[in-house]
Amino acid sequence: MFDQDRVRRIGVVPTPFAGESFLSWVDMVAVTLRLARVAALRELGLSGPARFSTPQIHLRPAELKGVCQRTGLRPEQVKRMLFAFYAPTALPQFTADARRRWHVSNPWLRRDHSAACPLCLQASGGRWLLTWRLKWTFLCADHLVYLVDRCPRCRWWLYWRHEATGPGQREYCTRPLGQKGRGPSRSDAKICGFQVSEIQAIPVEDEEAVHVQRRVSTLLTPADASHNEMSRHLLQYMSEVVQEAARRKTMAGMLDKMESNVVRAVRESQGQPHHPPLAWTLESGSPAALSALVRIAARVALL
Ligand SMILES: [Zn+2]
Ligand SMILES: [Zn+2]
Repeated sequence: MFDQDRVRRIGVVPTPFAGESFLSWVDMVAVTLRLARVAALRELGLSGPARFSTPQIHLRPAELKGVCQRTGLRPEQVKRMLFAFYAPTALPQFTADARRRWHVSNPWLRRDHSAACPLCLQASGGRWLLTWRLKWTFLCADHLVYLVDRCPRCRWWLYWRHEATGPGQREYCTRPLGQKGRGPSRSDAKICGFQVSEIQAIPVEDEEAVHVQRRVSTLLTPADASHNEMSRHLLQYMSEVVQEAARRKTMAGMLDKMESNVVRAVRESQGQPHHPPLAWTLESGSPAALSALVRIAARVALL
């Protein structure tokens, strides 16, 4: 009889790209093995559903061990790809407590989708970075563009955890065309297909934006205990500044010296006329709009 608990080493395992997210890597495994995402998860010993919510955050010790045994990766390589990597700094809510892992929320986490730098994706062959899942990350300092987070053709989120999506999302929008609902799509349904590497990103022409992104990225990256503690406090303080700004009735002065593309992105994220102007920016703003929030906070906390 077939022993379901038998651990089988996978023949060819793609090496995680520097800074890659677990979801992206699992999809690389799927592509390499020519499997659907859910089947690739099973090969890795993870029985998560295709929508793949939970294992991105934190793997239980037995799950982590199973992934390492099946792939030959070191535990540190796997942990570097999970949301819990940022637990010491930006996501202190994500403790090792497995029972709570999916129920904890953080307004700075893109839980259900990812932003991206189209030029990085082009260069890496479609490796999506973990840091793009944090709203703290709003631009690519290598390519000097604001990240993108929606398909320009269908306006749907990129790398959405929708059940109908799979490894193809690494390279193109897999949103079913002409289907507004969230139900499962048939495999023969027509998809949008827009190439992610061809999305036009907004160029960054503002040194302060790049400077702030570099400072914040350093805060996000865990290091020693004192760095982590300082980062946690600063990010928490910046988050409070943003929440305070989101309650103000006018934007007076807050967007001073920011690029017109950023100001436009902020305006696009506004809600109803009676809402404060920044009320919805953290929730629904594009990365360019989020850059304004982080800079408002950085001007108070970092500069
Ligand atoms: Zn880039
Ligand atoms: Zn699309």
